[in-house]
Order: sequence, then C-alpha cells, then structure tokens
Amino acid sequence: MTKKEQLYEGKAKKVFKTDDPEFLIVSYKDDATAFNGLKKGTIAGKGVINNKMSNRLMERLEKSGIPTHYVEEINDRETIVKKVSIVPLEVIIRNIAAGSFSKRYGVEEGFVFETPTIEFSYKNDELGDPLMNAYHAIAMKLATPEEIETIKKYAFAVNEELKKFWSGCGVTLVDFKLEFGKLSDGTVVLADEISPDTCRLWDSKTNEKLDKDRFRRDMGGVEDAYAEIMKRLNEHI
Ligand code: ADP
Ligand code: UDP
Repeated sequence: MTKKEQLYEGKAKKVFKTDDPEFLIVSYKDDATAFNGLKKGTIAGKGVINNKMSNRLMERLEKSGIPTHYVEEINDRETIVKKVSIVPLEVIIRNIAAGSFSKRYGVEEGFVFETPTIEFSYKNDELGDPLMNAYHAIAMKLATPEEIETIKKYAFAVNEELKKFWSGCGVTLVDFKLEFGKLSDGTVVLADEISPDTCRLWDSKTNEKLDKDRFRRDMGGVEDAYAEIMKRLNEHI
C-alpha cells in the first residue's frame, strides 16, 4: 500500500490517505499537548512507543473478539488502519477516581470504584470536549441508540481485557479514553489509539504514575515512564 497526501494533522498524529480508499496510514508524533492544547511540549520517543503499544493492545483486543481499525504496523511510527468515520465522542472508562472525575465530584484520587464507570465527551476542541450523555449524543444524531449500545458493550469489554493484561504487568489500569468509528458498511470498530497518552497506568505496588499525567503535572521523568511502561508490555505481551 502506498502513502498518499496528508489528510489531517492532529495534536499527536498525522493521518495520510493511501492508494486504497478503505485504508489510511497514521503516523505518530512525539508532540504532546494537555489542557485542550494549552500546554505543549515533546516527549522524545513517544511516537514510537504509542504506535507499538496501541498496535499490540489492539491485536490482543481483536483476539478477544473486539473489532478494531488496526491492520498492519509498517514501521516504528506508522501503521495502516481501516478508514472509519469517527463517532465524535470520547468514551471514557474509569476504574479508579482521578483527573477530571476527582475534580468534578470532589473524590480523592485513588478512590476505587465499586464498578467501572462510563462517560462520553463531545469531541469538539472549540468547545473543550464537554461532557455529554447518551441522550444528548442520540438527539444530536452523533450516534444511533444501537451504536451507543455497541460502543458501551465494547468499551466495557476493552476494560476487562486491558485490566487483566496490565495487572499481569504489575500495572493498575486507572482510566482511559477510547474512540470508535464506522466502516463504510456501518460496522462499529475501535479506532484511534490506546497508549500512555490516553490511559492512566499506575505501578501496582507503588502507585507511581507511568503515563501522560507526568507531563500534564510537570512531574519529570516523562520519557522514563513511557519507556518503563513499554518495557512492561514487551515482557508480557
Ligand atoms: P486530535 O485530532 O485530537 O488532535 P490525533 O493527533 O491523535 O488527535 O489525530 C488523529 C485523528 O485521527 C483523530 O482526530 C482521530 O479521531 C482520527 N482517527 C483515528 N483513527 C482513525 C481511523 N481509523 N479513521 C479515520 N480517522 C481516525
Ligand atoms: N483522555 C484522553 N484525551 C482527552 C481527555 C482524556 O485521552 O482529551 C484520557 C486521559 O488520559 C485519562 C482519561 O481519558 O486516561 C480520563 O481523563 P479525565 O477525564 O480525567 O481528564 P483529564 O484529567 O485528562 O483532563
């Protein structure tokens, strides 16, 4: 498959057309942003880590029966994916309180939930990705009720699969963000990425943060944390 013109440059990835209209190539950058683009920086080596981690995890999810956009890793930073029409919702699953949840509801970071939670944000940078419930999403025709049900089912299944995998690596899966899209025939599949940019991952023994919070919160050791989490994945995949 040949890489054609760039379709889009996002905050963390570039997206290219290919000679086949059903497929795209995504290229992972080292650029990092936080707080809706307000904070900008780079994390050396992040693009390679996020590309490989996302691909290994999506392969695993496919094996467990969750359809994804993943097709083939072509080099350290680039991957062929199935082209989807993105459902403009950020789907967030939480096992433990952290980040915006802790802030919004006054719950201490680290509070372990009775059961996992799901929430949606409207994927709209201008509006700052506001929280949105399923009724709003359906009313705005962002997704049908059936698509919402499928997305919820897959998102919780992803959580179970990833919790299990990360636990074997000595890592606690605190929360994460997923994006889903529709193939040309309407099939809903998991898209975008699963990486330390989009998940909170804590060392199970020490609760040390091994994810993008180190960048968001100026904690230092960002590159080392990305390298450490990738090492754990490689040892257990
Ligand atoms: P952002 O747009 O938030 O800055 P990125 O830098 O990660 O994010 O850009 C990647 C873009 O590609 C995102 O808008 C994402 O929704 C979109 N995307 C991810 N996977 C696919 C896919 N399989 N088909 C089409 N678009 C995709
Ligand atoms: N997240 C993400 N992209 C976003 C917002 C959140 O990948 O635009 C991820 C984030 O890394 C975390 C989870 O979703 O793993 C929950 O994030 P939260 O709502 O707590 O927001 P934050 O504290 O990052 O603002």
